[in-house]
Amino acid sequence: MAEQVLAAVRTGPGRTELREFPMPDIPDDGALLKVEVAGICGTDVKMYAKPPFADPVIMGHENIGVIAKAGRTFAERQGVREGDRVFVEHYVGCFQCAWCRAGEYRHCELTDWRTNPDARRFGYTSAENPYHLWGGFAQYMYLPWNSVLHKLPDGLSSELAGLATPMSNGIEWALFAAGVGYDSAVLIQGPGQQGLSQTVACKQAGASLIIVTGTTKDAARLEMARKLGADCVIDVQSEDPLEKIMAVTGGKGVDIVLDCTSGAGTAPVLLGIDALKRREGVLLIQGELAAFPDFPVKKVTEKAITIKSARGHSFRACELAVKQLASGRFPLDLLVTHTFGLSDVDRAIKAIGGTGSDEDVIHVSLHPWEA
Ligand SMILES: [Zn+2]
Ligand SMILES: [Zn+2]
Repeated sequence: MAEQVLAAVRTGPGRTELREFPMPDIPDDGALLKVEVAGICGTDVKMYAKPPFADPVIMGHENIGVIAKAGRTFAERQGVREGDRVFVEHYVGCFQCAWCRAGEYRHCELTDWRTNPDARRFGYTSAENPYHLWGGFAQYMYLPWNSVLHKLPDGLSSELAGLATPMSNGIEWALFAAGVGYDSAVLIQGPGQQGLSQTVACKQAGASLIIVTGTTKDAARLEMARKLGADCVIDVQSEDPLEKIMAVTGGKGVDIVLDCTSGAGTAPVLLGIDALKRREGVLLIQGELAAFPDFPVKKVTEKAITIKSARGHSFRACELAVKQLASGRFPLDLLVTHTFGLSDVDRAIKAIGGTGSDEDVIHVSLHPWEA
């Protein structure tokens, strides 16, 4: 095994450097992951542009790899062996608090960098912490005892498994948080990897009407939404979205709205509120805006709308995502559009953010063993 590990390190806003770290000595209850694929998402775009703290960070929080080395206790507790291929969740919970005991380690304070400066979370934690290798944009990643792993079936490529995070969010938000199920009418706003994963989750769960919206530059993504099961797609720049939604729902509106847009301001939430059915619709939101001027609280109350927050994924959602990806039931490989090597982290993040030179980008993954 190499003595040095190559990693792409975020050193400031929009700045990445390749650095070498010493190969860590793995304790009995830890392991080392040889990273094969690290997925990139919209959160990386935000964290890269405006890092929440100044310390160097190896980003990469959607990680697939092979257990290269495992301490005896780690292997026993986790039920894994060296050579096993796994999807690693980015949460690193304490497994003592009430959230962890309830299986909701995504809410654990030990993994919440927003409220805990000493939090551990893959892709977010300072590389100055012991073991250094806390993110997937590196050849190897350190796995502490409290890592959460999902074993991958042989038939599922690492490339496709790289979609496990958006797919698990799709299942968590659409099915578990918002309650999409048999015969639901759903509006999914934003046809990026997240919106397209929601489309698959809704289709698999039995939604009878799936409407996906996007902008004019999303033409190829809207086409992909159709291939993955959308019944109706709307370009909100060339058509009146509310009019079209009402037309396809016979004037009733939809049961559930899932906001998967980014950087679109208040418009998607306002459209969602108007597009929901007369009473008791569900609106799933993402916390992009710090403030929402003129929020139509009266309309929300009168329509008896339930607002749910998009907040990561549970263990079960990840297991189901891996199963969904392995099933081959949907042409999800269409989503895997761009892969880059370790020296191209900057370009890869820009590709997802839509600010680089790469076009028709849906899912971007990093292959740390390529230059
Ligand atoms: Zn992500
Ligand atoms: Zn906990």
